[in-house]
Amino acid sequence: RWAAATGPRRVLLASPRSFCAGVERAIEIVERALDRFGAPVYVRKQIVHNIHVVRDLERRGAVFVDDLAEVPEGAVTVFSAHGVAPAVREEAGRRGLRVIDATCPLVAKVHAEARRFAARGDLVVLIGHAGHEEVEGVLGEVPGAGVLVEDEAGVADAVAAVPPGRGVAYLTQTTLAADEAGRVAAAVRRRFPDAEGPRGDDICYATTNRQHAVRAVAEEADLVLVVGSANSSNALRLTEVAARSGHGGAPLARLVDGPGDVALDWLRGARTVGVTAGASTPGAMVDAIVAALGGLGPLEVEERRVTEENVEFTLPKEVRP
Ligand code: SF4
Repeated sequence: RWAAATGPRRVLLASPRSFCAGVERAIEIVERALDRFGAPVYVRKQIVHNIHVVRDLERRGAVFVDDLAEVPEGAVTVFSAHGVAPAVREEAGRRGLRVIDATCPLVAKVHAEARRFAARGDLVVLIGHAGHEEVEGVLGEVPGAGVLVEDEAGVADAVAAVPPGRGVAYLTQTTLAADEAGRVAAAVRRRFPDAEGPRGDDICYATTNRQHAVRAVAEEADLVLVVGSANSSNALRLTEVAARSGHGGAPLARLVDGPGDVALDWLRGARTVGVTAGASTPGAMVDAIVAALGGLGPLEVEERRVTEENVEFTLPKEVRP
């Protein structure tokens, strides 16, 4: 189709896309910690799940570690945006680390809900993905009182963990696909009609807005490129949501970390290309993708804005101006 078509290829930029308030805050915390305390600043886990962000901060003196045991006693240590279990805070306290917590306030809210439910004796069903740091942190708040459910089928296993008469509450990871999470939550409520859910929704505003926006461009696109790293939960979900969208044939949806990942094959026949980026992806990577597409022929770039975002979070006191 591309070969036969005339005129420029259309690029539809989904908006909102790229950094959310929680990611901007987390990156700013590391930058300010480097300015105030000097390098090295240790960061437990990737500060946000994006390789370009991590490499950039590494160049400036951040040292990323998987385990606090790798951090020298007393060193300045930042906890990532995804949050940590209380056991990690306790270990940092024992080691005398100077902790600055970059946990997104919207993740901290889920921790608080988990504690509230567990304190009244409920089993806390967390809808989320195994192995994700946010899930480890939230379940760490409720040792022995939490169970992870990944999909509708997983609800049956959760049932086995509930002794008769025990209350059940459920929460979700902040970066799930809203449609999928809704189905799993409905399955939990079918099995436990009295189960209490979160006040409002745990899926954060940034995840919701980016999913609405990618759906809007996917409706019109032959190909959707989601810019983000493969360990980014919200970027993966954007790719899945895009692949489920579209009228009469969903577009091809692909996750790319940068221009080098775009296969020419995907572009054959793709007259309209939707582009978005996960909440942990720098805007510059989207610019790089659009520039690369421009190198292949004339482009017409339009933005599809579904909503405005004006969320801001305050910085922790250790790095406040
Ligand atoms: Fe916070 Fe949502 Fe951004 Fe995660 S995606 S850092 S929960 S605002």
